[in-house]
Amino acid sequence: MQFEPLEVVAAAVISNGRLLLAQRTRPAEFAGMWELPGGKVEAGESPADAVRRELAEELGVVAVAGARIGVDVPLPRGLVLRAYRTAIESGIPQALDHSALQWVSAEELAAVDLVPNDRIWLDDLKAALAV
Ligand code: C5P
Repeated sequence: MQFEPLEVVAAAVISNGRLLLAQRTRPAEFAGMWELPGGKVEAGESPADAVRRELAEELGVVAVAGARIGVDVPLPRGLVLRAYRTAIESGIPQALDHSALQWVSAEELAAVDLVPNDRIWLDDLKAALAV
């Protein structure tokens, strides 16, 4: 039976009151917009495994996923997008799969051109940044 990916994970990495955002290079309609780094859960992976793998691939860091943040966001083809609070255990994030990275405060986040799916979490992310 062919594996159908069901979940896309997104990592909310917060450090020193700032949230890590990554700038998309594709598809054309989202290129230049900012997102939480992440990607599809693969066969045999837990969501936490997927966060760890995606952040290693995309940012070159070792990361640990924690609690969920925000609502489930339905995606096309039966996928669901879920955000997880994530801590970087080692390494400094690099834009290995994005055009740039930035760390934003709660105030700055409001003005960022977030991808539409991630914008749904704006209030949750601002609240997490305020703590
Ligand atoms: O990054 P990737 O292309 O694997 O993501 C799979 C799907 O999840 C895409 O449709 C992408 O737009 C979406 N996504 C998102 N927000 C994120 C990460 C992925 O909407 N933070």
